Amino acid sequence: MAPQKKGEDKAMGKVAIYPGSFDPITYGHLDIVERALEIFDKVIVAIADNAEKRPLFSIEERLQMAKIIFKDTPNVIVDSFKGLLVDYVAKTNAKVILRGLRATSDFEYEFHMASMNRSLNTHLDTLFMMTSKDYFFVSSRTIKEVAKLGGGVEGLVPDLVVRRLKEKFKLPVTKKKQIGWDD
Ligand code: ADP
Repeated sequence: MAPQKKGEDKAMGKVAIYPGSFDPITYGHLDIVERALEIFDKVIVAIADNAEKRPLFSIEERLQMAKIIFKDTPNVIVDSFKGLLVDYVAKTNAKVILRGLRATSDFEYEFHMASMNRSLNTHLDTLFMMTSKDYFFVSSRTIKEVAKLGGGVEGLVPDLVVRRLKEKFKLPVTKKKQIGWDD
């Protein structure tokens, strides 16, 4: 009998790790997770605890938001990790790193990271899923930029994230200026 490979543990099924900053989590991320669950039995959303990236949301805030968002999705585990991704993956029974690709501009960075991770752990593969047409322009960075300036990001991030962004940027509740016959 062939030896059982990591990530093929019968009890766990096929497991993928979806690592990222998720600062904050967007519908683009959720779309990737949803589609990955068609392929994998379990997806671990692994939030990178990397203070050097100077995230808007603390690791605790990002973890809490993701846990609430996935609370009714039992096949998704939300976790955080520090340090090298390959070291974190080694502690799980996952064999696949899941990443999303939006534009060709994502490709070079992702290609280098996937190649580096593969050289650090030859058993590890990175699977890329193409963004969906509804979210190809959605990135955590642009969401933060738009939200900071008071732009609406509803429909691009879950409602909980919309609220947390407003709290974070201490946005005033804007009242529409009424311009009409009574002015
Ligand atoms: P990182 O800081 O590691 O790039 P992100 O949280 O920005 O992490 O993204 C995590 C992963 O999700 C990356 O592979 C990224 O390309 C992918 N991703 C982010 N937004 C989208 C989107 N709108 N569509 C598809 N993939 C996405």
